[in-house]
Amino acid sequence: MKVSVDLNRCEGYGQCVFAAPDAFTLHGLEALTYVPNPPDEMRDAVHRAALACPVRAITVGTGNADEPATTSGENGRHVVIVGASLAGLKTAEALRESGFSGQLTIIGDEPHRPYDRPPLTKACVSEKLPPDRLELPVTRPLDARFRLGVPATGLDTDHRLVRLADGGTVGYDSLVIATGTRARPFPGGAADDIDGVLTVRTRDDTEELQRRLARPPRRVVVIGAGFLGGELASGCRELGLDVTLVEAQATPLQGPLGSVIGGVVADLARDKGVDVRMWNTVERFVADGTGALRQIVLSDGAAVDADLAVVALGAQRNVEWLDDSAIRADSGGVHCDDQCRALGHDGQPVPDVYVAGDVAAAPHPLLPDRRLSVEHWGNAVTQARTVAHNITRRPGQAPIPHTGLPAFWSSQFGVNIKGVGYPGIADRIAVVQGTLGQGSFSVLYGREDRTVAAVTFDNGRYLHYYESLVRQGAPFPAEFVACDENTARALRPVGR
Ligand SMILES: Cc1cc2nc3c(=O)[nH]c(=O)nc-3n(C[C@H](O)[C@H](O)[C@H](O)COP(=O)(O)OP(=O)(O)OC[C@H]3O[C@@H](n4cnc5c(N)ncnc54)[C@H](O)[C@@H]3O)c2cc1C
Ligand code: SF4
Repeated sequence: MKVSVDLNRCEGYGQCVFAAPDAFTLHGLEALTYVPNPPDEMRDAVHRAALACPVRAITVGTGNADEPATTSGENGRHVVIVGASLAGLKTAEALRESGFSGQLTIIGDEPHRPYDRPPLTKACVSEKLPPDRLELPVTRPLDARFRLGVPATGLDTDHRLVRLADGGTVGYDSLVIATGTRARPFPGGAADDIDGVLTVRTRDDTEELQRRLARPPRRVVVIGAGFLGGELASGCRELGLDVTLVEAQATPLQGPLGSVIGGVVADLARDKGVDVRMWNTVERFVADGTGALRQIVLSDGAAVDADLAVVALGAQRNVEWLDDSAIRADSGGVHCDDQCRALGHDGQPVPDVYVAGDVAAAPHPLLPDRRLSVEHWGNAVTQARTVAHNITRRPGQAPIPHTGLPAFWSSQFGVNIKGVGYPGIADRIAVVQGTLGQGSFSVLYGREDRTVAAVTFDNGRYLHYYESLVRQGAPFPAEFVACDENTARALRPVGR
């Protein structure tokens, strides 16, 4: 039995915790963790929990993704998905849901079945959840052929062929590119030969991290205070380890959320005992005679004794395999249109090639002049559904555009942070519920008098309402009476 929870949707009501307390746990006010592969004796309770969830956030399924579907071949049509992770699996599932009965092949360079990444920096650290338990549930037989452990190395759209690293090729009628991202290594190869400097993006990475955390290290240095860096620092502190968090900007999360909200996160980290070093980069790593990490020298000259460092400097899109193809792809991702159709070098859709997930550089009606890739779980799921619909639509049926707003969650330092929209492009914020840094609060983000995003700290159940404001492009500051009069007029720069 496999379980996953759409934590964008979860509003932290805790009904699942009442129904299946051994499988679901609420941390703090609303951060939920769960057992992703509960034992059979929990089966009934987990099903009750899924039924009790008021927002239908819980998926219960099996791991048997290649079990034959009850459908029969559809004129030999073959959909090939490159990338066997969240976007790839959700596309396959949605294709079968849409009635696609042709051949389905999923190609992945990792040796594992599709698994869920968000717990890799959360429950796998703080609760020592084994990463091999994270296989994603499927809710229906997929009848898919998995080619795992084999990277795709090239694409020939004229002959509709995907080339593989083992020398083979796979022909397609429709192709879905879902190759996501990989961890950005420490720049310049400065950490390449040092034992004890890791990145975390995959199941294997987290298994290695867990081995090293178990030793335990004298101090962990987390380099980069974005979402993943904050989660890692938070999880290591929960294990009782000494942690230093290094960040080049003035606060954690300054890029995505601005320095005012980032300052709140910095305070939370300090309160939990993290040694926070902002305005700092790593000048050099110092190793002992065996090549093991001993010390990290920061740009302000300070030396931090540490035997484990985790580099959390963001992600790079996996597009190199498309280098000589007809597809337009660059460091920003694979360019696609609003129907998730991959674009060629002439800016026109390449026939029957689609893109989903972190690797897609897509337009959004709220930002017509930009093409953005969104590295969030919910976006991979909604794009996968759009792609599946557009591949399987019947003659006369209209294609659907991808209009989903980016939405994200993160739990760190005892707080559940959720957001929707584009806080990274805002120039001002308004605190509309609660008070910054004092328990639960909500913040709206504005750009040029328009509401473009909302972020909540332990206040996620209000996010739906704020999402509707973002969707409408509501005037900023929003014209509604905030439920906390102390802060209703707390309008300030976002802090960049
Ligand atoms: C540690 C971590 C924590 C996260 N936490 C959150 C969170 O709290 N909230 C949130 O909203 N999002 C979170 N995310 C983001 C979320 O997991 C991603 O948005 C999601 O995984 C995207 O899915 P994807 O399928 O598009 O890409 P990926 O998950 O990156 O999968 C792409 C797959 O394609 C494979 N691949 C690449 N190149 C090739 C090739 N040439 N041939 C074959 N296969 C290839 C890759 O190895 C990978 O298996 C987190 C991500 C990480 C890494
Ligand atoms: S919203 Fe659903 S998944 Fe989230 S805590 Fe409530 S019952 Fe559980």
